[in-house]
Amino acid sequence: MDAIDLRPSRAGSAPIRVSFEFFPPKSAEMEDALWQSVQRLEPLRPNFVSVTYGAGGSTRQRTHATVARILAETNLRPAAHLTCVGASRAEVDEVVREYWDLGVRHIVALRGDPPAGVGARFEAHPDGYQTSADLVAGIRRIGDFEVTVSAYPEKHPEATSFEQDLDALKAKIDAGATRAVTQFFFENETYLRYVERVRARGIDIPIVPGLVPVQNFRQTASFAQRTGASVPAWLAARFDGLDDDPATRRLVAAAVAAEQALDLVDHGVRDFHFYTMNKADLVFAICHMLGLRPQPTQKAA
Ligand code: FAD
Repeated sequence: MDAIDLRPSRAGSAPIRVSFEFFPPKSAEMEDALWQSVQRLEPLRPNFVSVTYGAGGSTRQRTHATVARILAETNLRPAAHLTCVGASRAEVDEVVREYWDLGVRHIVALRGDPPAGVGARFEAHPDGYQTSADLVAGIRRIGDFEVTVSAYPEKHPEATSFEQDLDALKAKIDAGATRAVTQFFFENETYLRYVERVRARGIDIPIVPGLVPVQNFRQTASFAQRTGASVPAWLAARFDGLDDDPATRRLVAAAVAAEQALDLVDHGVRDFHFYTMNKADLVFAICHMLGLRPQPTQKAA
């Protein structure tokens, strides 16, 4: 039994599937926090867990080490994020081969942000992969990887139009991507309308909603601003006045996130990707609301 169906929905009773995103830790303390979160979430049997790649490839070693530890110490299936930034094709290919040799079979392929930061003009490395679609094709040439890519319900800030954004998504799929995970959003309508547009464009791969539980409203709002995701006034209003009241903030955060996820279930969504920020509690609670229950886990010796 994967999940208890708490909310009969228009989608029928297909099981809920979740995936969790982590970032590689910078210190021993952060490593402990990450590991506690991984261990808490592992019994929910996610479809996969992914580990991000720092801007400009700055976490290459740490991403690799985190993925390696997940493979060695858990039953989880890790997906390694990889970007085109600041590296030649040969260097990126070497990373991909290292992952293959380690036993990783899933890569989240991204262009990455310009080294000068979001908003700056992106210039590919002269010998590097020029676009995320190029990277997807390169990864698929090296091994039979599952490749997940990004999708932007509010369109990517650099896209000149929705059409161009959808063309970019289509190019990644034509190159071999089989799943897209979205940038986070707070208005479900935005996501549902986007999926309609994607389907109308003839794209039929899963477009998995990426949800961010609001661990800290100010941080989330500033992150959203940098990534082009909008923060509705009603969300700001819910957290208004709670800056010095972490206990209430957490309750509100859980309610907001559960409301969003359950509404998506009502609209037939069964796959969810959670940006965990390496913190398990809120995500665990939302998964519980979605009907997931911990299952025994044991790493084969
Ligand atoms: P793409 O899908 O290649 O392009 C996004 C859009 O930009 C396209 O739709 C296209 O319309 C437009 N575009 C691109 N180039 C041009 C151009 N030259 N002119 C006009 N329009 C253009 N970043 C990291 O550094 N590390 C990570 O681990 C990471 N993980 C992520 C995971 C998810 C699920 C998401 C949604 C994003 C992640 N990012 C990560 C952020 C991502 O790298 C940035 O959003 C980056 O700016 C775009 O990369 P992409 O692969 O999403 O872009």
